[in-house]
Amino acid sequence: MIPYGRQSISQADIDAVTAVLRSDHLTQGPAVPAFESKVAQTVGAAHGVAVNSATSALHIACAALGLGPGDVLWTSPNTFVASANCARYCGADVDFVDINPVTLNMCPLALERKLRKAEIAGRLPKIVIPVHFAGEPCDMAAIHRLARTYGFSVIEDASHAVGARCGATAVGACEFSDVTIFSFHPVKIVTTAEGGLALTNRAELAERMALWRSHGITRAPELMISEPDGPWYYEQLTLGFNYRMTDLQAALGTSQLDRLAEFIDARQRLAARYDGLLADLPVGLPHRSTSNHSALHLYPVRVASGRRAVTFTQLRAQGIGVNVHYIPVHLQPYYRALGFKPGDFPEAERYYAEAISLPLFPALTEAEQDVVVQELTATLERQ
Ligand SMILES: *Cc1c(COP(=O)(O)O)cnc(C)c1O
Repeated sequence: MIPYGRQSISQADIDAVTAVLRSDHLTQGPAVPAFESKVAQTVGAAHGVAVNSATSALHIACAALGLGPGDVLWTSPNTFVASANCARYCGADVDFVDINPVTLNMCPLALERKLRKAEIAGRLPKIVIPVHFAGEPCDMAAIHRLARTYGFSVIEDASHAVGARCGATAVGACEFSDVTIFSFHPVKIVTTAEGGLALTNRAELAERMALWRSHGITRAPELMISEPDGPWYYEQLTLGFNYRMTDLQAALGTSQLDRLAEFIDARQRLAARYDGLLADLPVGLPHRSTSNHSALHLYPVRVASGRRAVTFTQLRAQGIGVNVHYIPVHLQPYYRALGFKPGDFPEAERYYAEAISLPLFPALTEAEQDVVVQELTATLERQ
């Protein structure tokens, strides 16, 4: 099976992890802060808070921004469920903003229309989470302008977009957001096996996210309610979690980051090659804006909706590990039970009916890519 995504592990990565195994600290040692600094420096953000998944990073970001019962969070329906679930963890409500059919990202015009209505209804969102789908950055400048007008916070779900740039600015710099989230799951751009990170330029937000990451406990005297009664003293200030990343994971991530540019270059080269090889087939190719530099986490093509299931099944039968990104979140049974229904976000639903993600990862060979294209061609010709 040619998978749709796969990690790329070097001898240097293995050496970095085994060095931690031989060291004094498997967790809560020096590797996590070193990883946080390296990610923050790479993208130009002031602070990084590493956690055990992007899901946890979304949760601590929402908690640190004060999201709670009675509040509303808006995100894109064309995403993984975690982008919405973070609101539910905080007891808040979720709503969605439909996508632009070309960029497949949250549509700023749809956002503005929905904000106008929400203002009249007295139900403006506290947080909006745009998702950089497939690694292509959202129109953050437009979303930021709306954030200032309507007074909401912005968390970028950049799980797909480590290494992407919007103009000259790296995704993660938080130029137009309060917090940016990265995922380091093995199918993503760089991996720590499981892992995530929250970036911010606001020191007090970084401090609060660090509290939520580890039981709500602080050892910093300036944050404490009481005078420390000894050097052992710590205080639990809120009901936090154990979302810590281990030193093993952080060491792997630090080593992987050395190849970030190489990974993105390989994805760009393979995607451009797909563009050429697929140009004459009856499939829609993924849009990439010329002013952005996509991280190309995914290469999703569109086939006529009536042909999607057959195409998918036949490719899988030929050992091509295609996938579908995404089943619109509002159509999941959990969200339907909260009142969402088919037809609520028609662009995301139309896109879902046509989407197939082809294999794309740095170590994909041109020969494997040729097999993918041959099998896709054969499947479409048979229909
Ligand atoms: C993968 C992913 C997540 C969750 O990442 P984990 O690290 O697995 O928790 C969240 N949002 C999007 C868009 C993702 O693709």
